[in-house]
Amino acid sequence: MSVPFLLPCRLADPAPTQGTTVLNDARLFDGTGSPAREHVSVTITDGRIESVSDGQIEPPDDGRNIDLGGRFLMPGLIDCHTHLTIKTAPELREGEEALHPGVVGHIVGSNLREALRMGITTLREVGAHGDTVFEVRQAIRYGAFRAPRLLISGRLVSSTSPQARHFPNMYREADGPDEMRKAAREQIRAGADFVKIMTTGARSVEWENPGPAQMTREEVAAVVDEVHRLGYRVAAHCEGLEGTRLAIEEGVDTIEHGFYLHREPELLQQLAERGGVLVPTLTFLHDVADRKATQWTPHLVERGAYNVQEARRTMAAAIEAGVHIAMGWDGVPEAMAASELGLMVEAGMTTSQALTSATSTASYALGLDALIGTVEPGKLADLVVVDGDPLEDIGVLVDRERIYLVVQSGTPVAGTALETRL
Ligand SMILES: [Zn+2]
Repeated sequence: MSVPFLLPCRLADPAPTQGTTVLNDARLFDGTGSPAREHVSVTITDGRIESVSDGQIEPPDDGRNIDLGGRFLMPGLIDCHTHLTIKTAPELREGEEALHPGVVGHIVGSNLREALRMGITTLREVGAHGDTVFEVRQAIRYGAFRAPRLLISGRLVSSTSPQARHFPNMYREADGPDEMRKAAREQIRAGADFVKIMTTGARSVEWENPGPAQMTREEVAAVVDEVHRLGYRVAAHCEGLEGTRLAIEEGVDTIEHGFYLHREPELLQQLAERGGVLVPTLTFLHDVADRKATQWTPHLVERGAYNVQEARRTMAAAIEAGVHIAMGWDGVPEAMAASELGLMVEAGMTTSQALTSATSTASYALGLDALIGTVEPGKLADLVVVDGDPLEDIGVLVDRERIYLVVQSGTPVAGTALETRL
């Protein structure tokens, strides 16, 4: 995995709270995959975790003590695959007032606030219409509201293809290695944090055959070379095995979907050996196949049901091969992203592995593992306190009443503990 160069301005981090806060009597899941520990205290100073200790800690005289009463404490959740503008605009009835151009941005902002309320402290946006998410991120940066930390792909770099017609203002079509290289540079110019390429067609577009690779090996290699050279990472949309093979062999950092990979164990092995990451996005497959099947064409529903079975086999094979697997929701609304973890458990992960996929492995996938993803000294204090035990029932993470406290860079920002009740 290439190590990305992280500009502080790209992370739009909120200013950390100064001073010391001690979270006492936590049941700590630190995100590394180690078992939870009882009666742990976490000391936070100037927004970062200073120490993690067994037993009670007295805060300094000017510090703050928060007694968690044995509640479950874990790193803030990280969603590695979301589309913040898809299905965001309200569906208008005939005769209703047309939407003003900026309305979707306000709705995205509102959805992000609710995502933070549910304990999601960082997310990676992998394809949006127009520049809305850049605008929203800038508003966050300049203090308009608190939201998860956003990493943004910019336009999706693809060959000339049907999907680019299907999703207006979301793609940058390019053909040939030089044009692909330029398209990637344009995303960095626009403020992208990484570049996403489309190595195959998409299961959500009926004109597409996701089987063959849509980019040539030379095109994939050109983007990977350019983006890595500039210090950024590459994510690749991968369905059919031929495009998936190009992405893995040419050094793409994160493989999105990849649900046929169980058929090519040597590719999974190669991905594991070089530390690449698979983001399986099971939710979207289920949405098409069953949960939201009425919204899709019969052909896509049929293909979706087949893909669910393939994805489950790939999850088992990827776990067996030791591939890093990161959580990516690929659904709406963003606040419900942790429901992906339930599907990952159904597909063969332990609850501990699933929580790790949304914390330490997700931070590794994003190149932020030096900053977030575990509860360890030196990391930013992005934390969630839960009423309940996600190791017993991972579904508590999508129960709003169970999200007791969300801490972002050391600041308590959301949760039932902060909400007054009538
Ligand atoms: Zn997606």
